[in-house]
Amino acid sequence: MVDTRWKVDVLLSGSWRGAASVLLSNGRHRVLVDTGLPHEAHQLMSALKARGLQPTDIGMVVNTHFHVDHVLNNGLFPSSLIYATQQSYDWCRSLYADILNEDGWEKVALKYYPETHDYDKSAANMGKLRKFALRWWDVKRLGKLSQFRWLETQPLPDGLECLITWGHVPGHASIIAHSGEEPIVIAADALLSHAGDDRVLTMIPFNRAQYDRDRARILAFGGHIIPGHDQAFDSPLPAADANLR
Ligand SMILES: [Zn+2]
Repeated sequence: MVDTRWKVDVLLSGSWRGAASVLLSNGRHRVLVDTGLPHEAHQLMSALKARGLQPTDIGMVVNTHFHVDHVLNNGLFPSSLIYATQQSYDWCRSLYADILNEDGWEKVALKYYPETHDYDKSAANMGKLRKFALRWWDVKRLGKLSQFRWLETQPLPDGLECLITWGHVPGHASIIAHSGEEPIVIAADALLSHAGDDRVLTMIPFNRAQYDRDRARILAFGGHIIPGHDQAFDSPLPAADANLR
């Protein structure tokens, strides 16, 4: 009988300067969640090779969202389907295109990050965003549009769930995998780090109030939690049967 329970394997560990890239597999599918930055390509390929795998063994890539640190090795998987929300794809493509435009990019950035001025270091944050865009953004590295399947209309394989956590960016998707025991929660940037580390080099939330709700929701889920930019940790499962004891 085919084992349909999902197992998790972190290929690129999340840290303050790089996002987690995670392999989910069961007897039927191999799914890679997020693919990292261009300079991490070699590390990602080595991690696959160490497991006896090559890119053609990865049937599906899932992108939690399209910030540069999560998607720029998609191009290494030309035979995989790529699952993502169309909302985050459109939003991030439009963001980077506008940010790369010379004229008045600071003002344009406010359209995407309306809470920019609520933060002390707003100018520095926006400068960082532009620096990242100039240095890394390359649409060709996202894979071909024909590879994409939008999560708004296409379901993930059985036992994988998509949780929309839009506080970080519109359409951001966290992934929950059912292992038969505790759930595995790939939080991505809905939960940057276990302790809420603000050294993480990523953007301010699109919506702070929602971002705080997303983080609380993920912690309340319990199980094996993989943050976007930190080591995995275990969070206690909710005591659903507390009244029965
Ligand atoms: Zn992000």
